[in-house]
Amino acid sequence: MQRPYNFSAGPAAIPAEVLEQAAAEMLDWHGSGMGVMEMSHRGKEFISICEQAEADLRELLAIPPQFQVLFMQGGGLAENAIVPLNLSRAGTVDFVVTGGWSQKSAKEARKYAAEVNVVATSEDSQFTTLPAPAQWQLSKGASYLHLCSNETIHGIEFHELPDLKALGSDAPLVIDFSSHVASRSVDWSRVGLAFGGAQKNLGPAGLTLVVVREDLLGHALPICPSAFNYQTVAENRSMYNTPPTWGIYIAGLTFQWLKRQREGSLSGIAAIEQRNIAKAQMLYDTIDQSAFYLNKVAAHCRSRMNVPFFLRDESRNDAFLAGAKERGLLQLKGHKSVGGMRASIYNAMPIAGVQALVDYMREFEQRHA
Ligand code: PMP
Repeated sequence: MQRPYNFSAGPAAIPAEVLEQAAAEMLDWHGSGMGVMEMSHRGKEFISICEQAEADLRELLAIPPQFQVLFMQGGGLAENAIVPLNLSRAGTVDFVVTGGWSQKSAKEARKYAAEVNVVATSEDSQFTTLPAPAQWQLSKGASYLHLCSNETIHGIEFHELPDLKALGSDAPLVIDFSSHVASRSVDWSRVGLAFGGAQKNLGPAGLTLVVVREDLLGHALPICPSAFNYQTVAENRSMYNTPPTWGIYIAGLTFQWLKRQREGSLSGIAAIEQRNIAKAQMLYDTIDQSAFYLNKVAAHCRSRMNVPFFLRDESRNDAFLAGAKERGLLQLKGHKSVGGMRASIYNAMPIAGVQALVDYMREFEQRHA
């Protein structure tokens, strides 16, 4: 069955193969007589699902052994509180504000950290660029520095993570990689902690992935809820409380799907990254080569995952969206704070989906230009 192409920013499209396998296993997982939603999280069946998911993720993202992988609940916004509760040590924390999500994170951290220092922001440009790391005004002795490595709403991505040591800071780097996790490789030598909600690239909403360097554990503020204390979660291998079992299972199927991806001689994350680069290029080229469409983000930091764009004549927005829907191109409406359109082209979006979108964009332009 050819399903429509779904450009939602999240919850977002899941690979059809993953959904089909989940459907086939819904009533009886591997002869256990139970569906995954019905299993005890402490039973051998679910523990094997969880361990396999973690092993596959570690392999895919080359996560070094000194990092713990935690499967939590709460989503990205809860992590905005959980991170300072665990890592701020009641001291100063640094933030780089490059869009709506890092802005929200900084605001939430003010409740828990003694001081929040915005070391750089691109707000002046309406979040269409990234402030150069050499210009960041880093605090002395900050407990950590937070940035959002892909701003889902504004369509801005860090294509290289900053090397804080080289900038003279010993602070661990915290990244919110919710909307580009598993779309590209991660330079773990520059990262202390990464978190992300699952509902863009990994699976259903309700699962939050946290990858944290072990030396950062054990410093939570006394008020930190036990279920959100990273050390407690790590010591209990994500089973202190009941983890989001269904989300972990679907993410595990997605990791296996990712491991099967091939592009030429590449496989796994390298293959999907190559495909993501090609998809983004097709879309940005179509926008840039046209006098009808516009993307305002500086070329060096355009997101491969979330592509906001505008019709120069905004009176045609509704017609554009209606025509897209008729063609099976869904959820292209831009975020309310930015307007226009947004095409989110996560891992599950095939090249053919982006091709269908750019074909439609060219045709709409010819009809209306
Ligand atoms: N951070 C980023 C980068 C996001 O894109 C989102 C959700 N769109 C969030 C945080 C918030 O996630 P949640 O709704 O799961 O709390």
